[in-house]
Order: sequence, then C-alpha cells, then structure tokens
Amino acid sequence: MKISGDFFDDAVSLYDWPHHDGTFVPPAPDTILFHFTDLPDVQSAIDVLAARRLSTHLLIGRDGSLTQMLPFDRIGRHAGNSTYLGREGFNRFAIGIEMDNCGRLCTVTTDGGLHASCGKKIPLSLAEPGIHAHENFETLWHNYTKEQLNRVAIVCAGLVKTYGITSILGHDEVAPGRKIDPGPVFPMSTLRVRFLGVPVPRTKQDVAATPIFPVLPRPDAAAPPLLACPLAPGTRCAISARHDQTVYDIQESGQWQRIFFSMEGYVRCHKIVPISGKMYMIQDAGAQLYPAPEDREPLFTAFLPRGAVLRVSGPGSDWRRAAVCCAGWVRCEENFAAAP
Ligand SMILES: [Zn+2]
Repeated sequence: MKISGDFFDDAVSLYDWPHHDGTFVPPAPDTILFHFTDLPDVQSAIDVLAARRLSTHLLIGRDGSLTQMLPFDRIGRHAGNSTYLGREGFNRFAIGIEMDNCGRLCTVTTDGGLHASCGKKIPLSLAEPGIHAHENFETLWHNYTKEQLNRVAIVCAGLVKTYGITSILGHDEVAPGRKIDPGPVFPMSTLRVRFLGVPVPRTKQDVAATPIFPVLPRPDAAAPPLLACPLAPGTRCAISARHDQTVYDIQESGQWQRIFFSMEGYVRCHKIVPISGKMYMIQDAGAQLYPAPEDREPLFTAFLPRGAVLRVSGPGSDWRRAAVCCAGWVRCEENFAAAP
C-alpha cells in the first residue's frame, strides 16, 4: 500500500470532499489524531460529517476497509477546540483517522447484548472493559477488530514514513473533558512504541486502575459488596466469558460469574454531572436511584458510588431518567436463569 499524490493507492477515495480549510503549512502534518465515529457504520459517519460540514482524512471500517475523504496536504475539520503541550487547534497539524466504532456501551438489552449510545445493538462478545484515562471506573467499550488494527498499523507506517509524523494522539488527549474517543481499548501506547519509539505520556495523571462499580469486586465472599443489597429478581444481565483469562478463573472458583447489568430509575439532577453526550457521572456520594421521581423508597438501599456512570434520557430540571451500567461478580448457582 503506497501513498502517491497525497492518497493511499488502495483507499476508496471520496474525491472533492468540499469541507476543509485549505492546505497544511509545512512541517505540518506532523500528528496522527485518532477518533471513533460513535455511529453504526462508516456510511453513517460519512453522512454525519457531510451534514455538519466536517471532514477527516481517513475512515477505517470494521472489516479493515479504508476510505479517504481528503488528500493528506489538506486541513480537515475533525479536531475542534483542541490543545496539547502548548499547541492549539489540531486541525492545522493533524491527519484525522476515524475508526468505525460505537464507543462506550451503555445498557444491557433483553437478549444479553449491549446498546451503544448511537442506538446500535452490540453483542457482548464485541465489548471490552476499560478504564478511560479521564475516569477512575471501569465501563464497557466497543472493541476494535483485528482487521481494523492491521489496517491502522499499515496506515501509520505509511504516514510516518511519508510525512515524518512525530506524534500519535487521541481526540480525548487534545480535547480532554470534551471528548472520550478513541477510548481506553484503542491500543494507543502500542502504536506509539511501534511507530515513534516512545509511549507518549497521557495528558491526565494516571488514575487508580480500580473498577468501583461491581456487584462484588472479585469472586470472594469476603469482599465488600458494591450495592449493599441483592439485585432484584428479574434484573437483566449479560455474562462474560472473556474474563476466564484473568486471575479469577471461573472453572476454578466454580460458583462465580462475571456479569454486566443495567438498572433503570430516576436520579436527582444535582447529584450528577455530564461526561459526554447522554453519559453522566454520579458526583455526589449520597445519590440513589428511585423507581419514580419523588418516590420515597429507592430501588436499592445502598448509595450509588461517586464516579458511577449513568446513561440519562429525557429532559428534567430536578429528576432525570437514568440507566446505570455495572460490572462485577455474582455467585452463579442460585442466581441465574436464562432470559425468556
Ligand atoms: Zn473525535
């Protein structure tokens, strides 16, 4: 795969994409900036970019397909307000790469899948737990496929060689607080080591790598439960086999299962703060989830922990409808029945 005339020769090219801001001033471009689309597929990403008069240089599909929207000498519109190590406005320096990926997965569906914030249903097998560099709690993320990551490696090699790229960054690093893409399951450090020789430090300090919203944090009856009451019968959950490879081997411990579940209810507005889009975070350690606004009895007696993530829907100035997504361990023998 070669670059000639500022195009990858085997990319599907969208010639004459009208939304851009002139040409780079050398030595730009010197940065590759990764994003996820947070949309169902590549075509919907192209449609949304067109509708918003935006652009990126490349889109990489889940099957590894490569679409080129702008030649590499042109300034795209993908970074927005952005700053990193004293430089501002990363559109002027960066080649934008959009990864076809739905980002954070929010709620469990009736058949044990997961909903992305764009509404697409994602099977649990495509979800990976991860702690975002800006957060200190584990949530679930749409994975990146092998085909996509193979393509990313080829693309990075070509761009580094042709344009002398000196930094590889994520949108979340140049716009912290505003953006979370490409998220914690994107292999950023691996790419930096491989193509730049160094894992460039994150913009935010490292946060404690401790999931704080499990049912039990580990398959250990002595561990303090996160919710100080059992899950209600009928609570939907998805069971993961992915974690067999961790120190807690399901075969060995026998009666424990790693689960993901979601609960819906109402939360007081002043207890939550927005993270991104419909995602909010519990800011006040005294928050609880209620079956209806103004209800006196909460759904579970324990408080939601500070930092727990909620997907909030509908307007409201005092109460908001919210789904809480949790991950943890539960005893299996008496606790599970297949969904009808
Ligand atoms: Zn982005």
